[in-house]
Amino acid sequence: GFNCGIVGLPNVGKSTLFNALTKAGIGAENFPFCTIEPNAGVVPMPDPRLNALAEIVKPERVIPTSMEFVDIAGLVEGASKGEGLGNQFLANIRETDAIAHVVRCFEDSNVIHVANKVDPASDIEVINTELALADLESVERQLQRLVRVAKSGDKEAIKQKAMLEKLLPHLNEGLPVRSLSLTEDEHAQIKQFHLLTTKPTMYIANVNEDGFTDNPYLKVVEEIAAQEGAVVVPICNKLEAEIAELEDEERDEFLADLGMEEPGLDRVIRAGYQLLGLQTYFTAGVKEVRAWTTKIGATAPESAGVIHTDFQKGFIRAEIISYDDYITHNGEQGAKEAGKWRLEGKDYIVQDGDVIHFRFNV
Ligand code: GDP
Repeated sequence: GFNCGIVGLPNVGKSTLFNALTKAGIGAENFPFCTIEPNAGVVPMPDPRLNALAEIVKPERVIPTSMEFVDIAGLVEGASKGEGLGNQFLANIRETDAIAHVVRCFEDSNVIHVANKVDPASDIEVINTELALADLESVERQLQRLVRVAKSGDKEAIKQKAMLEKLLPHLNEGLPVRSLSLTEDEHAQIKQFHLLTTKPTMYIANVNEDGFTDNPYLKVVEEIAAQEGAVVVPICNKLEAEIAELEDEERDEFLADLGMEEPGLDRVIRAGYQLLGLQTYFTAGVKEVRAWTTKIGATAPESAGVIHTDFQKGFIRAEIISYDDYITHNGEQGAKEAGKWRLEGKDYIVQDGDVIHFRFNV
């Protein structure tokens, strides 16, 4: 599966968000194949299509796809120099696929701010600088190693060295690599360097209940994100924590009273999904109707591999019905009769919403 690390300065509302996410989440017992750390929570991907499929198939169980969120508390100024438990935190961030950076955009005299004032631009800079400094160190280390190989005339090493040297001045200014304008080729090339500031990032602007509009703090975050090509999700984490405590029916009423169509958390999860270029396909059998996550652009065998590596290795063909056809024709039989059932091979690019049955050799 994919995961998203929650970072931010102390007291900005990370734990509040994380607790809301995990309360709304699925118990670890439903995920026998993943090891879940105490600071990680598996959050279901809200998707109304799953229920629509289940109404037709009437399966024994319905399983949503999910994303893991990891609470990476304790990133403070000086982390890259090993302040606090700095290095450990940076190592935790290195293992995540994407970053959710929580920024305080609310005033509350009862909640102490580490710098004594609410200042999202400065808060963002502190965190981004730490991550950039960690990358700077990593780039310098990788350069040292490459210099020797490049001297011997190794073409690949020369190319890598040139790329790293291009990143250096930017990182030296404490700026994230994602704000550097790079060609598609260069983007592909820098993946191998495993840097922190190239990870897809969203800013979670933690606002007060009444802070979604006319909020100068939120504007600041939006401006910074626009410059970097990052996403912003405004949310009131305190309110989300309250929503997450409620039972289904109560929750729907509460949301309706607030004029909200869905919990704000759903927007966080969707943003994470979008950030990583992910999409959903379905399997629909009488035992189980289930949603699965795959990369946009993934082939049928690659998508089969999400279920089990044997499905990918032994892939023969994929039986496909697109979601709309499946619903319109009231299931597999109807879709077949309408000529909407297809048999696709190993080069097929899976589309969002495909209902798939994989054929494979064991
Ligand atoms: P962390 O250190 O970043 O994990 O911050 P916490 O989640 O522990 O939150 C710090 C304090 O801020 C707690 O007392 C929260 O109740 C409070 N808090 C979190 N989100 C909000 C919010 O949206 N509005 C207000 N007023 N307080 C919040």
